[in-house]
Amino acid sequence: MSDIKFIDESFIENLISETENPSESLIDEILYKALQLQGLDLVDAAYLLNINNSGALNKLLHTSFKVKQEIYGNRLVLFAPLYISNFCANNCLYCGFRSDNKDLVRRVLSLDEIKEETLSILRQGHKRILMLMGEHHKDCPFDYFLEAIDAVYSVKDEKGSSIRRINVEIAPLDESEFQKLNKVHIGTYTVFQETYHRETYHKMHPGGIKSDYDWRLTTMDRALSNGMHDVGIGALFGLYDFRFEVLSLIQHSKYLDKKFNVGPHTISIPRIRPAANAPASFNLEHAVSDEDFKKLVSVIRCAVPYTGMILSTRESAELRSELFNYGVSQISAGSRTSPGGYKQAFSETDEAGQFTLNDCRTSGEVIRDVIQHGFVPSFCTACYRLGRVGEDFMEQAKPGLIKLFCQPNALTTLKEYLVDYADPETTQLAEELVQKELATIPNDKVREKTAQYLTRIESGERDLYL
Ligand code: SAM
Ligand code: SF4
Repeated sequence: MSDIKFIDESFIENLISETENPSESLIDEILYKALQLQGLDLVDAAYLLNINNSGALNKLLHTSFKVKQEIYGNRLVLFAPLYISNFCANNCLYCGFRSDNKDLVRRVLSLDEIKEETLSILRQGHKRILMLMGEHHKDCPFDYFLEAIDAVYSVKDEKGSSIRRINVEIAPLDESEFQKLNKVHIGTYTVFQETYHRETYHKMHPGGIKSDYDWRLTTMDRALSNGMHDVGIGALFGLYDFRFEVLSLIQHSKYLDKKFNVGPHTISIPRIRPAANAPASFNLEHAVSDEDFKKLVSVIRCAVPYTGMILSTRESAELRSELFNYGVSQISAGSRTSPGGYKQAFSETDEAGQFTLNDCRTSGEVIRDVIQHGFVPSFCTACYRLGRVGEDFMEQAKPGLIKLFCQPNALTTLKEYLVDYADPETTQLAEELVQKELATIPNDKVREKTAQYLTRIESGERDLYL
């Protein structure tokens, strides 16, 4: 299959060494290009990844913020992960769910337990869920996952709220499974390649279905050819040279965009966290420093400006707040990484969890922090529900038009949160932000309509969006 060659390892390795020590003027030129919002080629991205002085790094960080603001505006989309099973037949050396971890208490949630978890998440104000599980075809089959999706959508809390968008992150599927997934109405389907470096991949995935690099690399080809509209990609940072992973993510994005006219809806940037009985989650040979992490977030934002970039609670509260400024557009909040974790009393070293968390704040605390940093927490699900997906979404996102919807919808969904779930302190802070942000909506008609929606929500209406 010639398509599998779309990650060109030797080209990328050469590029990394040929672009070392870029001059200040070259960086300025590339950053000027980034501000045109057309993305960057691999050579330009490689120069940025090789920035090695604080002056140039600051310019890069500043540019990525401008690019993110141009495309998505001032909002940050929030979601919560929901793990339904920690059974796994694979043995990924970095993961707490690996089959060799005999200490892990394994569980598959029943449909009633899944509904209870959903209720806990709804009560935090969330409207979007990311559903996950390990890969175990006997103990938690794919058809059960489909039933679990229906179970989540069926739950309503005391405020009458339900989950409006389910994104999915499960092991690579075959053609017929994607066709089934398409029928239950999900948002984005995500799989991380973990590492794009073949040799490292084989070392890290010694057994199980996941040991097949090409099966994983071609997942999005199967997804987009079999009814999925929005796909998410990612790399697990810390397994190999971060510059190699970022350039591969960009190459993967360009390949999908060229072949399907749809680039990745999201790119995720997880960094390895310590996990019980997972030897490759400690003493990392390719550990990524905070400084390099900021750099890589900014390079992805400049190189693939239209993509949503997802930051999880694997990062600390302080770093997360800083990264809002460098191009991140979606964050998880109040997360648990074990099946049943929302119901249990919270413990940082969650024994049934996939890895240890770094940001252990409640959703409410994260939301307040986002507001204090001047960003609008958004629970918006409008695009997917209006069919603004796949190519249609890209048509709006690429030229920076999507923020015309993101901005009002962030405000209406935040307003719902304030009326239904927020504490008085958050409400006061947020109301000021809502009024300030409302005044910046450039189009008169949209601004007036948004103001009307806010009043209608105050009077009890829900789910108003553009
Ligand atoms: N089990 C499926 C798979 O591997 O494709 C679904 C995704 S798994 C539940 C979620 C992701 O968690 C993995 O793709 C991996 O990148 C990440 N992960 C695993 N171990 C981790 C660790 N120790 N620290 C941070 N992220 C980890
Ligand atoms: Fe299983 Fe996914 Fe963990 Fe690998 S990363 S052990 S496939 S849950």
